[in-house]
Amino acid sequence: MGSSVLFLLINILLSYIFLPMIFGLKDGFAGKSLGKLICGVEVIDIDTQKPIGFARAFKRNLVLMIPLMPIVVAFTLAKGRRFGDKWANTKVVLRKARNHPIFTGGLVCERCQYNLTGNTSGSCPECGRAISGQNLNKLTEESKDPVELV
Ligand SMILES: [Zn+2]
Repeated sequence: MGSSVLFLLINILLSYIFLPMIFGLKDGFAGKSLGKLICGVEVIDIDTQKPIGFARAFKRNLVLMIPLMPIVVAFTLAKGRRFGDKWANTKVVLRKARNHPIFTGGLVCERCQYNLTGNTSGSCPECGRAISGQNLNKLTEESKDPVELV
C-alpha cells in the first residue's frame, strides 16, 4: 500500500510539475535549449533583439503544454511565428546571422543577399546587380537619416 502511494506521488510530481517546468523553461538559458544550441539558433526578444530568459521561455512554451497542441503548432509553423512566440514577443533566429539585414528587414541584394547597408555606389559590390525597386526606396530612406556631426 505504501509503495503504491509513493509511486503515485512520484508520478504526479513528474507529470505535472517537474517535466512541465523543464519543458517550459528549456529556452531560458540565454535563449537556447540543448537542441537550439546544437542547431545554432536562439530565441530573442523582438524589441531588444537580445536572448530571452526563463520567464519569457516559460510564456512561449506554455501553450505547448496543452494536450495535442504541439501537433496543431507543427502544422501552423510553415506560416511563420507560432502563437507562443507572438504572445511572448519572441522569435527564433540563426545565431550567427541574427544581425544580417535579411532577418532585420534591412537592405540586402535581391540576387545574392549581400548586405547593402550604407551602399553609395548604387550596385551590389558582390554580384554587380543594380539596386532597384524596393531596395532603391530603402537606400533613399537610409540616406535621409540625420547624420550626427562630431
Ligand atoms: Zn548581389
